[in-house]
Amino acid sequence: MKIQYFLAGCLFFSFFGSHCVANTVTSTVINETRDPEAATGVIEKSLVESKKFQVSAANPYAVKAGYRVLKAGGSAVDAAIAVQMVLTLVEPQSSGIGGGTFILHWDEKEKTVTSWDGRETAPSSADGDLFLDDNGKLMSWWDALAGGRSVGAPGVIAALSKAHESQGKLPWASLFKDAIDLSEKGFIVSARLHQLIAKKTNPSLGHYAEAKEYFFPNGEPLQTGARHKNPKLAATLKLIAQKGPKAFYQGEIAADIISAVQGAKDNPGLLTKADLQAYESIEREPVCSPYHQYTICGMGSPSSGGITLIQILSLLEPFKLSNYKPMDTEAVHLFSQASRLAYADRDLFIADSDFVKVPLSDLLNKSYLKHRSQLIKNNSDMGKAKAGAIPQVLSFSEGSTLAQPSTSHISIVDSEGNAVSMTTSIEMAFGSTLMVRGFLLNNQLTDFSFAKEINGKPVANRVEGNKRPRSSMAPTMVFNQDHQLMMVIGSPGGSRIINYVAKTLIGVLDWGLNIQQAIDLPNISNRNGDTDLELGTDATKLQSSLEKKGHVVKVRELNSGLHGIVITPKGLQGGADSRREGVVLGD
Ligand code: GLU
Repeated sequence: MKIQYFLAGCLFFSFFGSHCVANTVTSTVINETRDPEAATGVIEKSLVESKKFQVSAANPYAVKAGYRVLKAGGSAVDAAIAVQMVLTLVEPQSSGIGGGTFILHWDEKEKTVTSWDGRETAPSSADGDLFLDDNGKLMSWWDALAGGRSVGAPGVIAALSKAHESQGKLPWASLFKDAIDLSEKGFIVSARLHQLIAKKTNPSLGHYAEAKEYFFPNGEPLQTGARHKNPKLAATLKLIAQKGPKAFYQGEIAADIISAVQGAKDNPGLLTKADLQAYESIEREPVCSPYHQYTICGMGSPSSGGITLIQILSLLEPFKLSNYKPMDTEAVHLFSQASRLAYADRDLFIADSDFVKVPLSDLLNKSYLKHRSQLIKNNSDMGKAKAGAIPQVLSFSEGSTLAQPSTSHISIVDSEGNAVSMTTSIEMAFGSTLMVRGFLLNNQLTDFSFAKEINGKPVANRVEGNKRPRSSMAPTMVFNQDHQLMMVIGSPGGSRIINYVAKTLIGVLDWGLNIQQAIDLPNISNRNGDTDLELGTDATKLQSSLEKKGHVVKVRELNSGLHGIVITPKGLQGGADSRREGVVLGD
């Protein structure tokens, strides 16, 4: 890591020393002011430039682990493994080995994009009645999420292991070292982690013994700045490091997962040892489509991320957003309308394509989308958009799922030009709140539609045995007209992820912003309902002009966690979201 120069008015120490606000682009180095050992919440961040490799992710400890792997000659996939293992420890609210992931990979030599689906699966015995209470009524989302019922078979370890078999350079076990050391020595609790515990973001945290002990030592929430150890996680990671994924999906770790899920008081689950043993990460065809002179590639079903993102951009293509300034009322209006149309299709058609026929080619068909874009009026909000009339799937009724903000995104480019765009999640903050051997179990099954049919028609995203719940995670890659990788991006944010990523792509591709500026643009969201403007930003100034066009506007926190890298002829440019505690490091 090179620290090349000091910036006016601030002192630059080593990586784990203090840092300055850099308004200018530096070479390499962490892009924020604070001591990563005492990582606090929101802070203005600056573009980071590097020549050889770069990693952008949600926590300084995790980014440092990824940096070390890249520095040692590891591949982007190797670094992603190291980052994810440390995130399990330091950002337990968002992602971890008890959760699921979607990974997009660019192989620079072969010029291929691959995707690995590490989404959780429903227990084989689950069916459309999973979320009915004892009286046969649909459970509330909050009642369903805590305990065993919402836990799907975790996919993170299987997906990373599959990616490593294909793209790993360094030994699997070596990639766990930082996470094991840090779990044993302890990490400094960030303000964000403290606040999420203290504010009871997940009201059930503390209901189950292991999580209660871990997150509320002596009955108090973990304090900002406290050094906290997780010896149980260290032991778990050692087993997985030494014995590989089998140690997770079979044997004593699997047995403990199952007894926690089945034995969860108040809300036991159906997951079995056989479900864990049968879990497989699936290599899937990514979805790719042109946008102006670029090609956008994303994750296909069971995520709606790639398809819905591509739809939004394609619907906007005829309007040439480059003619507008960022945060023009017109541009925000058009964005919200395209988003309405795309979310209408998402809600009706997209689910796990191994169970449901997803009309992928229709949804991405340019003339279908051109036709749909003609529904967008310049002067008025269209109101609730209907899904397109695509014949094959008319028997499905729309279902809606709530997704709460947690999740994490990792973007990496290695020194050979290979890249990883990986979004990873345990769903709600702190997942199901069941903790096993030092890690939290997901509540990803709440991403299914709770209702199995509406008006007598089956819902595409209903629960079925072994099915994967529909996701909004949108790990994305962009290629230029010469088919060279030019951008790696993704975000957490529940079903708003798609809006956050779309905004950032438009910022870079249409408005010529650098990646940090594009991430910093205020977030706008419309999931075929209200138009949401990000609280505390310039976007709120658009409220009355949008209301004049008929929008129902809500001003609210829109907490993205965008982490991205742009590949330019001169090198790599990385950005990290000021709304969370992420950083960028590179050489
Ligand atoms: N579970 C959500 C999904 O897969 C992500 C949750 C979040 O970003 O907070 O779409």
